[in-house]
Amino acid sequence: MEKVFNNMVLKIQNRPLFGELMAEEENFDVIVVGGGPGGSTCATYLGKAGYKVLLLEKAKFPRDKTCGDAVSGKSVSVLRDFGLMDAIETQPHEKVNGVLFSSPDATIVEIPFPSGYGGNKGFGYVCRREVFDNIVFQHSKKYATVLEQFQVTDLIKENGYVVGVRCMDLNAKKEKTFRGRIIVGADGALSVVARKVNAENTDPKHSCVALRAYYKNIKGLTKNIEIHFINSVLPGYFWIFPLENGTANVGVGMLTYDMQKRAINLKTSMLEAIKNDPLFKERFQGAELMSDIKGWTLPFGSKKVKCYGNGYVLLGDSASLIDPFTGEGIGNSMVSARIASRVIDKALKANDVSENNLKEYDVELWKELGPELKTSYYLQKIGQHKFLLNLIIKKASKSKHVRETISGMLVNEQAKKQFVSPLFYLKLLFG
Ligand SMILES: Cc1cc2nc3c(=O)[nH]c(=O)nc-3n(C[C@H](O)[C@H](O)[C@H](O)COP(=O)(O)OP(=O)(O)OC[C@H]3O[C@@H](n4cnc5c(N)ncnc54)[C@H](O)[C@@H]3O)c2cc1C
Repeated sequence: MEKVFNNMVLKIQNRPLFGELMAEEENFDVIVVGGGPGGSTCATYLGKAGYKVLLLEKAKFPRDKTCGDAVSGKSVSVLRDFGLMDAIETQPHEKVNGVLFSSPDATIVEIPFPSGYGGNKGFGYVCRREVFDNIVFQHSKKYATVLEQFQVTDLIKENGYVVGVRCMDLNAKKEKTFRGRIIVGADGALSVVARKVNAENTDPKHSCVALRAYYKNIKGLTKNIEIHFINSVLPGYFWIFPLENGTANVGVGMLTYDMQKRAINLKTSMLEAIKNDPLFKERFQGAELMSDIKGWTLPFGSKKVKCYGNGYVLLGDSASLIDPFTGEGIGNSMVSARIASRVIDKALKANDVSENNLKEYDVELWKELGPELKTSYYLQKIGQHKFLLNLIIKKASKSKHVRETISGMLVNEQAKKQFVSPLFYLKLLFG
């Protein structure tokens, strides 16, 4: 049977079940390294297209991933493609219908999501990654051979092409090799695949460090995600994202370069803000920390890394695609997986996985994500000027029109570009 999906012709076929991997099956069409949202999405698309896909994941799912847990419209569009909307609806999550911003001078404004946000009638999700990733990961098992607790340690290269991976079966404590016609690096911010092809982003001006904790009983939680530009972590921000049953994801993030330059201890800054900042002091009285405070790195898409080459592509965090203003990366990892799958499908059909042929992935990827990553980089720079943050948030707090303009910018890339125009700020100043 054949069906068209993601612009690819699908063939329905039986995949080997988990645990049924035979020695003679160690050659695959596609090997995906990493089963986060990016890797699971790519494995699903290509498995559905009829390719023999191996997904190697070092963790045992469900696993935690340090994150703010805010799931954007882009991610939802992939969930829809996969028919997984019911799955997220029946798992623990919170629906949010706007953003609350506070400025360095402590002005607060609420911006509702416009109707149609994420194709979702004006709401988004906050869903723990332990839950969200597991939905996409388990679903990929229908279409790919999935091996958990297999950690990729190296790439096999022959004649200038990546042709396979070496990995460690963490249970059996045995090394294993697999060969594939193409290898997909989807192994996150500290990607082994990216490192082995010299495509890591370790630039402190284009990456961020962020901390995350779970709390319960914070007072005054609403259906808004909260982004606070407080002085102690500028030019980064402090967030409170509401979760189910009165719990919340709380965190703070800052450009690595600024953190190093100002010798900031992010954990100390976060805990001090919770204890002493007038915005949070009362709200956190009686609140309970439910987790460790964990940190991780965010490779930003403000720096382009080379995400393709002979026999491989990189996607998601391993391709450094996180939004440099919002820190959002789940959606970009899933969208990059969708684009990569289309290009890989064409390349495998043409039996040509050369760098020259896979360049199309880079072109398509940057056509789709490039403009918004560029705008967000600009916004990140604006965020470094207290005066502008104070101005925008104060004007928005007073004017319905400005609030509606910003709300429109949340869904419309064209509208977002207004932020880049000096005219926008002049209008705010004198409007
Ligand atoms: C503190 C923080 C807050 C954030 N907040 C948000 C937010 O609110 N919303 C948002 O959209 N984004 C957020 N992000 C960014 C988001 O977490 C990432 O962009 C997203 O996880 C990228 O998905 P991925 O599939 O590319 O990589 P990952 O989700 O990192 O998945 C990579 C997978 O590869 C596996 N792996 C790693 N190495 C190997 C190996 N050698 N062999 C086999 N498997 C391996 C890992 O176990 C993991 O499962 C945040 C990030 C941080 C650090």
